Amino acid sequence: MMDYTLFIGGQKVAAANHHDIRNPSTGDIVGRMPLATAEQLDQAVDAAAAAFRDWRQKREEERAQACRDVATAIEAHAEELATLLTLEQGKPMNGLGSRFEIGGALAWTRYTAELSLPVEILQDNNEGRVELHRKPIGVVGSITPWNWPVMIACWHIIPAIRAGNTVVIKPSPMTPLSTIRLVEIINEVLPPGVVNVITGENAIGGALSAHPGVAKMTFTGSTATGKKIMASAVETLKRLTLELGGNDAGIVLPDAEPKRIAEGLFWGAFINNGQTCAALKRLYVHDSIYDEVCTALADYAGKIVIGDGMDEKSVLGPIQNEMQYNKVRDLVEDARAKGGRVLTGGEPIDRPGYFYPITLVADVADGVRLVDEEQFGPALPIIRYSDVDEVIERANRNPAGLGGSVWSSDPEKAKHYALKLECGSVWINKHGAIQPNAPFGGVKQSGIGIEFGAEGLKEFTTIQTVLS
Ligand code: NAD
Repeated sequence: MMDYTLFIGGQKVAAANHHDIRNPSTGDIVGRMPLATAEQLDQAVDAAAAAFRDWRQKREEERAQACRDVATAIEAHAEELATLLTLEQGKPMNGLGSRFEIGGALAWTRYTAELSLPVEILQDNNEGRVELHRKPIGVVGSITPWNWPVMIACWHIIPAIRAGNTVVIKPSPMTPLSTIRLVEIINEVLPPGVVNVITGENAIGGALSAHPGVAKMTFTGSTATGKKIMASAVETLKRLTLELGGNDAGIVLPDAEPKRIAEGLFWGAFINNGQTCAALKRLYVHDSIYDEVCTALADYAGKIVIGDGMDEKSVLGPIQNEMQYNKVRDLVEDARAKGGRVLTGGEPIDRPGYFYPITLVADVADGVRLVDEEQFGPALPIIRYSDVDEVIERANRNPAGLGGSVWSSDPEKAKHYALKLECGSVWINKHGAIQPNAPFGGVKQSGIGIEFGAEGLKEFTTIQTVLS
């Protein structure tokens, strides 16, 4: 079985100890994750700090070209990366699975390469001149989750290096191998030390976020871990971007057409088996069309093929890990015990691996855990309402504020209500459709800061004002 290595200062660095990484479809070992020591973390931060001295001096065009070269290198290895991703993450090669994720990583890398941060002239008159310059921050520590590991790694790495920083990335211990391979590939075209990877259990993430040599942390993961990272960053006042958990509400207005919106609702909720930060996680449907929406969604769910990710026929795969599998199962059981009506699914699929069916639970209300908590899996609560203003208020009571959506035949009316939702992104007649030019981030406990586009790039800089 292949022992993967860390990648530090342009070199493979072996670890003394490893953990097995298993395929969630079969339980087979995919490869062995190196467990970095505290000394190896120091080496990685030192390598990134040494590389920063030159990298920060490069001309903008040189860094833009380097990011284009990164995209070319990733593209040359796209199928290899997609396969490794499927084996360790579980998502299918096909559909909105691994090939789609690698395609997303490429799209974001290419878009971000072409961004720029020109000097802004704030004043230029006979009283003086004021210029705003954007400068790189230093060594960026990146910590990523297990749901979209390769794409999110690129969301962190590419803007960081485009702006002149260097990176130490630590992927999730659930899905570390595709990130190790990604960093090896990136290093084919970048100077040594600009991007480094260390892996290990959660504690090495804590050590990275507390490391005095790290100037900024960029983190995507749960709200609970985000709070710990914020606490670790206090000592050296690290800059922070925190993209955290969501519990996105979708509001279906009485004038929506159930059959027309069913496909969009389904994929809004079940993309990547619901293991997506900005997936639709609570669906509020007006009483007048409640039953029709439930039927249309259950009909659509019946067509979806669930299976081993390596099977080209699979449209969805297993849940990624046992902890998440148990959580989804418990939340569905709890909802059923509280009177929830299971329209489809609701019992684990009897086969090896963490397979759980698409589960729709009707007749639940706020106060039930499946509604109030982030399920992060293939189970969607469908909540009945009768007053639109009141339901918006209810949806906003949740502490999360990542995304939301409104569904209606009247886009203007939908926008009127969309603007009342307390969330960073709001969609009309779709959900979760992110794109590289649309700034993305959470409000309330879904995070701090923004990713994507020029606004996202600015998060990897500090401002220097020049007054003359
Ligand atoms: P998680 O918080 O359990 O783990 C995320 C990462 O943090 C992993 O790499 C983990 O090793 C690391 N980590 C754990 N404890 C740590 C600590 N004390 N210090 C530093 N690092 C630590 O999250 P997860 O289960 O991997 O991912 C699922 C969560 O991520 C969901 O809540 C989801 O909504 C969220 N998410 C958010 C976004 C977004 O853009 N807002 C995107 C994807 C996922």
